Amino acid sequence: MAYHRKLGLDRHSFERIRDNDFVEDDADGTPMQRLPDYHNRLERGTVLIEGTVVRGFPKVPRTLVLEEGISRYFDGEVVVEEKMDGYNVRLARIDGETYAFTRSGLVCPFTTHEARRMLEPEAFFDAHPDLMICVEMVGPENPYTAHDYDDVDSLAPRVFDVRDRESGEPLAVEERRDLVEAHGFPQVPLLGRHDLQEAPDGVDDAIRQLDAEGREGVVMKSVDGDRQLKYTTSAANQGDLAYAFSMPFDYGRDFMFRRLLREAFQAHERAEDGERFDDRAAAVGEAVLEPMRDAIATVDEGGVVGERHTVRAAPDVVEALLDHLRDQHVALEVERDEREGDDRVVTFLKRVQSTNDSIRAYLDGEAIRH
Ligand code: ATP
Ligand code: MG
Repeated sequence: MAYHRKLGLDRHSFERIRDNDFVEDDADGTPMQRLPDYHNRLERGTVLIEGTVVRGFPKVPRTLVLEEGISRYFDGEVVVEEKMDGYNVRLARIDGETYAFTRSGLVCPFTTHEARRMLEPEAFFDAHPDLMICVEMVGPENPYTAHDYDDVDSLAPRVFDVRDRESGEPLAVEERRDLVEAHGFPQVPLLGRHDLQEAPDGVDDAIRQLDAEGREGVVMKSVDGDRQLKYTTSAANQGDLAYAFSMPFDYGRDFMFRRLLREAFQAHERAEDGERFDDRAAAVGEAVLEPMRDAIATVDEGGVVGERHTVRAAPDVVEALLDHLRDQHVALEVERDEREGDDRVVTFLKRVQSTNDSIRAYLDGEAIRH
C-alpha cells in the first residue's frame, strides 16, 4: 500500500508534506524519512521506512484543573496510569530488526541497543510484527532526561502504550497491560480505574501521593486507550522550573510561564490560602531564583553551565551515543570517562550557549536591553 494511504492522506497532500516537512535520514544505514517537528496533519516523529510507516506518538493534552477538565474530556470510565519522567521511544521491528525511534523520529543507537538488551522483544515482535511498543526510558543514568526513581539505579524501560505501528491506533488499556505483563516487560504503574464522577477525587488523591514522593504525575485514559489527558504534580512543575531557570537564556519564556500557570491553577483548585499557599509561593520562588543565582555563580567562578548527564553501557554503545549526539550538533564536554567492569561510564555536559554568554556579559557589566 502506498504511503499516503497508510497515513490517511490524499496523494497530493502527502507529497506536499513529504517534500516540505519530512527530512531524509537513516536507521543504522537503512534510508528513511522522518517528520521532526509538530505538524497539523501528522504526528511529530512519524517515520517512512522500507515501505512501512512508524507513526509518531500523539501529543497528550493537559488539563490545568481536575474537576472540570476530566468531566469535559471523558465520557465514561477513566483509567489512571502514572506518568513517568524520562524520554519517549517507540520500538518497532523493520525488516527483522528492532529500532528505537525518539520523539522526533531519530533512531538512537544507544537506546536501540539498550532496549533490545533489556526487553528482549523478539518473541513479542514474532507474535505482533505490526505493533509498536511505546516506552519511557527512565532513571538517573540517562542521556536525555535524568530523573531519580527509588527502584531504578541506571537506565530502565517502562512501557506505557502499545499501538498499531502504521495507524497509531492504541490497544485498550487493560488488554495492553496484560500483553505487556505476559511478555515480562516492566510497565508504568496502574493507579486506578474510576467512574467519571469519582475520577477527579481519585486522581487528586493519586496526585497528592505522587507529589509527596517527588514523582511527575498521571496520564488519564479512556478504557479503549484512545483519549489521553495529563496532569502533573507540583513537585514536577517546580522541578521543571528549577531546571529551566538553571539555563535561563536557553529555555523559552513560554516554557517557564506555562509551568507557573500550572502552579496557580492548582493552588486555586485546592482553594489554598494561609500557610499552605505561603509554602507553595516560597517553593516556586526558590525554584526560580536559586538555580539562576547558582548559574550566575558558576559562570562567575569560570565554570560552564549546561545539562549534565551520565551514561553507562558497553564501550562501543557509549561511543555510538556520543557520535550520535555530536551528529545532532550537541556541544559536549566529557567530564568523566571511566571503566567499571565491562561498562564504560561517561559523564558529559551539554553546553548551552546563550546562558553562558549572557551571564558572562552581564557579570562584566554589559547593560541589559530586554
Ligand atoms: P507532548 O506535549 O508532545 O506530549 P511533552 O514532552 O511535553 O510532549 P510530556 O509532558 O512528558 O510530553 O507528556 C507526554 C509524555 O509522557 C508521553 O509522550 C510519554 O513519553 C510520557 N509518559 C510517561 N508515562 C506515560 C503514561 N503512563 N502514559 C502516556 N504517556 C506517558
Ligand atoms: Mg516527559
